[in-house]
Amino acid sequence: MLDPFGRSISYLRVSITDRCNLKCLYCTPLNALDYAPREDLLSYEEIVEILEVMVPMGIRKVRVTGGEPLVRRGVVEFLARLKRIEGLRKVAVTTNGIMLKELAEPLVQAGVSHINVSLDTLDPDRFREITRGGDLHRVLAGIDRLLELGVPTVKVNMVLMAGVNESEVESLARLSLQRPIQVRYIELMPVDHCGMPHAKYFLSAESVLPRLNAIARLEPAKVEDDDAGPATVYRFPGAPGTIGMITHLTNSFCDRCNRVRLTPEGQLRLCLFGDENVDLRAILRRPHTGQDLIDAVHAALAIKPKAADGYHAFAMQSVGG
Ligand code: SAM
Repeated sequence: MLDPFGRSISYLRVSITDRCNLKCLYCTPLNALDYAPREDLLSYEEIVEILEVMVPMGIRKVRVTGGEPLVRRGVVEFLARLKRIEGLRKVAVTTNGIMLKELAEPLVQAGVSHINVSLDTLDPDRFREITRGGDLHRVLAGIDRLLELGVPTVKVNMVLMAGVNESEVESLARLSLQRPIQVRYIELMPVDHCGMPHAKYFLSAESVLPRLNAIARLEPAKVEDDDAGPATVYRFPGAPGTIGMITHLTNSFCDRCNRVRLTPEGQLRLCLFGDENVDLRAILRRPHTGQDLIDAVHAALAIKPKAADGYHAFAMQSVGG
């Protein structure tokens, strides 16, 4: 699947729910999100139907996100079903980790090989503040369980926030010295509608590099192409884990974008920050053929923007990052 700018699209991020069991400061809008009526969400069968069309077209990796994907009933069976789609190489999940300890083993059995866990702090009180009530110990126990089970790729995502968690940049990085984890620093996207003025809270990924180099000199790390995603990846000498920098604001990676997104309500979204969407649910819910879906995906690719065109308020909690 090539877009008009010659980029090969092989990665689909699927948000399966707009519901979440946390209310993170940087994700939950101040005017609480109106959850979509359940009947508006794609059923698992509908998502599988889309994947059965898009995988033969070139999708190789699917990441299931949310909202919090692990709160949707039946998610493990759904993931196992995705794993059986011929040609789909990787099934990944992004989670806040609250339900991970219990679900780690079923996820592995379902064939999930790549799990990203949001982890903005190692301080239980600060975690409770950032997530508005979350229990850090549950998340850490979940990560431990993933490592015990030998999940091939475990990443933790820290959204950098000036004056909130910036003092913990080093302590998070040290996790990569002890464990085979990729610690990723993510630049805060503009989310003024969440009550976090960007100018006040933004901290560039580059600005934390000297602090990490003071721990030990970082070296560029080699990782499998689509495992790096948009991150620039480093490693402390001899460390089992790696460090990733996601610099969508200071050093955009749109020229190597390989992804599109599917929202819980069945919009194929061509750019996280753009309004270019194609309504696949409308096709699914009327008499249709596989060719109708193929045509819609081609039409969608044709309007994928060259680059993020500024940033504006959108429901990150629903689209899934
Ligand atoms: N509930 C899951 C979780 O917490 O990981 C999946 C959904 S969450 C929207 C996906 C990712 O988006 C998380 O890693 C989160 O940190 C990131 N994210 C949410 N809001 C963000 C923002 N304003 N700036 C940067 N990253 C953000």
